[in-house]
Amino acid sequence: MTVQSFNPPIRTLMGPGPSDVHPRILNALARPTIGHLDPVFVEMMDDVKGLLQYAFQTENELTMPVSAPGSAGMETCFVNLVEPGDKVIVCQNGVFGGRMKENVERCGGIAVMVEDEWGNAVDPAKVEQALESNPDAKIVAFVHAETSTGAQSDAKTLSELAHKHDCLVILDTVTSLGGTPVLIDEWQIDAVYSGTQKCLSCTPGISPVSFSERALDKVKNRETRVQSWFLDLNLVMGYWGSGQKRAYHHTAPVNALYGLHESLVMLKNEGLENAWKRHADNHDALKAGLEAMGLSFVVKPDERLPQLNSVTIPDGVDDATVRSRLLNEFNLEIGAGLGALAGKVWRIGLMGFSSRAENILLCVSALEAVLSDLNAPINSGVALKAIQEKLD
Ligand SMILES: *Cc1c(COP(=O)(O)O)cnc(C)c1O
Repeated sequence: MTVQSFNPPIRTLMGPGPSDVHPRILNALARPTIGHLDPVFVEMMDDVKGLLQYAFQTENELTMPVSAPGSAGMETCFVNLVEPGDKVIVCQNGVFGGRMKENVERCGGIAVMVEDEWGNAVDPAKVEQALESNPDAKIVAFVHAETSTGAQSDAKTLSELAHKHDCLVILDTVTSLGGTPVLIDEWQIDAVYSGTQKCLSCTPGISPVSFSERALDKVKNRETRVQSWFLDLNLVMGYWGSGQKRAYHHTAPVNALYGLHESLVMLKNEGLENAWKRHADNHDALKAGLEAMGLSFVVKPDERLPQLNSVTIPDGVDDATVRSRLLNEFNLEIGAGLGALAGKVWRIGLMGFSSRAENILLCVSALEAVLSDLNAPINSGVALKAIQEKLD
């Protein structure tokens, strides 16, 4: 029996991530592997750090990629900053706030939940109330861009509230980084994590993180040891810290970091402002097409993420049928709804390299073809013109 190589089909990825990976990044991944302590590699890592500081808009010394996906970045923030007995205010308006709660509890902390309806941004008034009723809270944690719904919360306001009550802030920017403004220093965020496979157009598996001096003071002065050896920043700093002679901690994912480096070079060359504008403009074009067709958005306009578009599935249309036809007939992936929104919405991602004109045209024409074929109640023949008018 001969075993065969795996050759994936070529898909267009317009779900909640991973997004399309730029060919330049795929090429970078195939470059020769060198040692992770090779001086040439160490120089590249210094570049990665500087480029991540740019992406996060921070001067934080401890800014680095964790060698594991976004969930590990999340866990890095919680295991280092939460000690047993610590009270943490966790905002939940979708799937990922629920995972933050899990993290707090597994660290022995007490999670005080602030809940908002799925599809809404986090309500600052509720957070303020929670801070007032819990003067012993030490941390406020929330998701900037809720990928499960497409809602964006006001990170600046929430961070100000937290600091007014002497709390540290943990922020999830997995879906926002590179897509909408993420201003870590200006907003005074203490611990932030992101992912490579969303608006950075890179392959999955790496999680950029950054920590403020205030956060590092807390890590260095812990009473208990961080329960995770792999994610303990006290140890990781020996490899990533400045002025350190890089010591072996774990073998860095050498080629994956070539990919991240390339994606950050592309982001720097495009310029953050231009990347944000591209995401906003392409959202406008997609929206024009979908609304012309008669589909409506779940999130209200001023809380809507341009890179993750939740739209309501028309009455009588079966979610899974449409998504599998898009995949099989058009090689196009869009996302399903999660939790409270399962079966009710589609999540259309316009993240990173996926955020471009031809993807919008493909997605809307494919959706129109499938929905017309299913006799769904949509307006036919008007969407593409509406998109073209926005793109011109
Ligand atoms: C995707 C995502 C994560 C998890 O990232 P993984 O790379 O899948 O581990 C966390 N938070 C948000 C908001 C996300 O969209």
